[in-house]
Amino acid sequence: MSTSVNINGVEFQPRLLINGEFVEASDKGTFNVVNPATGEMSCKVPEATEDDTNRAVAAAKAAQPGWAALDPAKRGAYLKKLAALIREHKSTLHHLEAISMGVPVNHFFHADFGADELDYFAEAWPHIQGQSSVNTPGYVTMTFRQPFGVAACIIPWNAPLYFFATKAAAALITGNTVVLKSSEKAPLAVAYAAELVAKAGFPPGVFNILSGHGLPSGRCLARHMDVRAISFTGSSRTGKLIQEEAAKTNLKSVTLELGGKSPAIIFDDANIEQALTDTMSSIVLNAGQVCIANSRVYVQKSVAPKFIEAFTKRMATIRGGNPLDPQTQMGPQADEIQYKNILSYIEEGKKSGKLAVGGKGQLDERKGYFVEPTVFLDTPEDAKIMKEEIFGPVLNINTFETEEEVVAKANDTEYGLWAAVFTNDLSRAMRMAKALESGYVSINCSSPSIGRDLPFGGYKGSGQGREGRLHSMNHFLEIKSVIIKLDEKASLQWNM
Ligand code: NAD
Repeated sequence: MSTSVNINGVEFQPRLLINGEFVEASDKGTFNVVNPATGEMSCKVPEATEDDTNRAVAAAKAAQPGWAALDPAKRGAYLKKLAALIREHKSTLHHLEAISMGVPVNHFFHADFGADELDYFAEAWPHIQGQSSVNTPGYVTMTFRQPFGVAACIIPWNAPLYFFATKAAAALITGNTVVLKSSEKAPLAVAYAAELVAKAGFPPGVFNILSGHGLPSGRCLARHMDVRAISFTGSSRTGKLIQEEAAKTNLKSVTLELGGKSPAIIFDDANIEQALTDTMSSIVLNAGQVCIANSRVYVQKSVAPKFIEAFTKRMATIRGGNPLDPQTQMGPQADEIQYKNILSYIEEGKKSGKLAVGGKGQLDERKGYFVEPTVFLDTPEDAKIMKEEIFGPVLNINTFETEEEVVAKANDTEYGLWAAVFTNDLSRAMRMAKALESGYVSINCSSPSIGRDLPFGGYKGSGQGREGRLHSMNHFLEIKSVIIKLDEKASLQWNM
């Protein structure tokens, strides 16, 4: 088994990037990456040890004062170079993402979006501003916004390059140095992007990139005393563990973008054709492995038979295919663990609701981790598949009669990342937007209809804090208050 991966005749060997140097893991440990569309090994990737993680943090700490002192426009210039390199190497990055986590090449937006984020943050430094005030007689007061120091970014596998770029760019432009850890399920495109980071010429230690599992490297970052801010996207389970490690160690600043169990609500006055198309794309995109996928659909009773008939008919026509084939609409699940997890939820679903479409895995026929798009009907609200995130092409359709009833059902979840509403009644749309406990509400469209300058994040168990453009930068900036006495006689009330 080759340890490297061959891309159109060129061998690529994933390595760790620590202090500007490409290295193997200190104990030479590796883990296997399997192509989920074929079940065959793609290559071996370094498993960063605690020692590697400590060295990456030490390098970031040493590099940080110099990086923060640099003219921010010069920091931005490195980000711009990296954006250009990502665009230049897009087809290689497509290939690597397809063979490690199965995203179809024709749905691949991660590189373009990632490069756009790098370009945006490269020029966003003028927004790093404090405030000033002369409201305190005899004094002038102000705030500074300054970097935390070393920032850790821990990313998931479902859109690796996008998270790599958006998190690192916000941290770097604000003067932090970075240790980023990719997901063990999709490390290849990020490892290749590390080569581009080196080509872009970032000073040693400014941007360190590790591959490996949550244990040991992820946990080591979460509990590291020299990491002062951590930005995490992943499951709610891991988010809680990271928060716990931060609380037990140095109370580092933590931003959490976590899971979802998002409702889509279709009223009888809606454009049903639009609702059908949008709700179906939302659950099929990335084979349902999207945090904001609408996995609970609620349709008003009077239009339910028509909606359900059309929805199930269309879902039954969707077939997974080779992610490298430009015709493929849906790829496989990311790996065997993910595949088996989804199938066990489907078996649970068969016990609690009515199976209308799908319901099987296709490993025997296809050799890859393909799951049939699956629709359940009439599942009780307290059933496991209605409460837990499945993260696959599986949804349930229930019906409702009144607005109050559907709001109660939609909000009856520990998650709160996204809610979609389809109606042509403007007042109702706004009442719903107000009532839904969700970080994002979309009207007459479903996820992923993202406004790129809007804050993104979850209510309740879906997260903590908001990301997106300036919101992301805030997360990486401390606030310092400074007060200057102007008049010797000036005294504040509590001065002795
Ligand atoms: P995950 O929690 O299993 O892993 C995410 C990352 O955390 C990986 O890099 C993993 O190695 C690391 N990790 C695992 N255990 C750790 C530990 N103890 N300490 C530190 N790091 C650890 O999540 P996943 O399976 O990669 O991603 C899917 C999840 O991410 C879903 O729940 C999805 O909803 C969520 N997600 C959320 C958003 C959002 O913006 N809200 C976006 C994408 C994905």
